[in-house]
Amino acid sequence: MNNEQENMVTCLDKGFVRLVDSMGGDDAIVQAARVSYGQGTSKVSQDRGLIRYLMRHRHTTPFEMVEFKFHCKMPIFVARQWVRHRTANINEYSLRYSEARDEFYIPDSENIQFQSALNKQGRSGTVPENLKKKVLDYFNDASERSFKMYQELNEAGIARELARSILPVNIYTEWYWKNDLHNLLHFIGLRSDSHAQYEIRVYSDAMAKFVKKVAPHAWEAYEDYIINGMRFSGPEQELLEKKLPDRIIDDILMDIVYQLIATLNKNKSRDKGRLYEIYKREGGIDSIDDFKLKWSSGRIKTGNVRELREFKNKLTSLRN
Ligand SMILES: Cc1cc2nc3c(=O)[nH]c(=O)nc-3n(C[C@H](O)[C@H](O)[C@H](O)COP(=O)(O)OP(=O)(O)OC[C@H]3O[C@@H](n4cnc5c(N)ncnc54)[C@H](O)[C@@H]3O)c2cc1C
Repeated sequence: MNNEQENMVTCLDKGFVRLVDSMGGDDAIVQAARVSYGQGTSKVSQDRGLIRYLMRHRHTTPFEMVEFKFHCKMPIFVARQWVRHRTANINEYSLRYSEARDEFYIPDSENIQFQSALNKQGRSGTVPENLKKKVLDYFNDASERSFKMYQELNEAGIARELARSILPVNIYTEWYWKNDLHNLLHFIGLRSDSHAQYEIRVYSDAMAKFVKKVAPHAWEAYEDYIINGMRFSGPEQELLEKKLPDRIIDDILMDIVYQLIATLNKNKSRDKGRLYEIYKREGGIDSIDDFKLKWSSGRIKTGNVRELREFKNKLTSLRN
């Protein structure tokens, strides 16, 4: 991606995320994984399928083979949260060496909300216009006044490293931030989540757009298994095992068997007569007439054989 505009996403009022460089993509993940799995292992031979398998089973190191280098500009209070992600390499604009610039984050009116009563780390509710105006006046006033004082101290020859400390945390800073895909996805998982602060979420979402472009299969797998996936704790699973009626599990299992047969047939077309045989072998219980009726409906979804078998095993383990 060489186009400057394409590589930049503007964030908040004055910030941005710019992809400076990236190394590798889906290919690099597959290439690294094949070192451990060997060339052309039958079921995982498709790149997309292999990436999905790796993500599903948290075999994460192949994802570390892809690298991203971003140039980012954000308010210092956002950088303060961002820097907690320790696996990145960072080089930041120095306010000891260079003078600060008069660039402060002033929130959009729609992002000024009350402290949330439910979430101690969140905001909610509609603030009346007169109070919003006051908030904006205070932001502008504090930013302008502190910057004037800072300039005055600079002009008086006070060391920049000391003078900077009167500047508020809504002043913008810039850095180069480099990380590998595995750790970047971890960052995105935490910082694009609805529990993260809006101002950092904007940056995380911007980086996610670049991940989607550079490694689309990895991003798709990440969305399917991590963002939209669900894990059950031990006690939750125990409750499901106790309370979920076997007939419901069996219904789902039967759907999976149909999907499995349709997928096997899509991968390698089978003789119609043999399909019912395979269906029975996979645990199907419908009569041949019901099977034919359902098969001809054309409504059976296909998926991934390995994944469907894994789902089948999980569900079977929930049966009483
Ligand atoms: C919504 C939200 C609210 C938060 N609130 C607070 C808060 O109130 N106070 C606060 O202090 N922080 C807070 N944090 C920051 C949080 O506790 C983590 O520091 C931050 O999210 C970085 O996570 P991480 O350590 O997994 O990431 P990274 O530092 O990127 O590390 C990635 C992974 O590498 C491994 N790792 C890295 N370094 C070490 C190490 N030294 N030892 C062992 N394993 C390591 C871990 O597996 C880790 O998950 C908050 C974060 C979020 C998303």
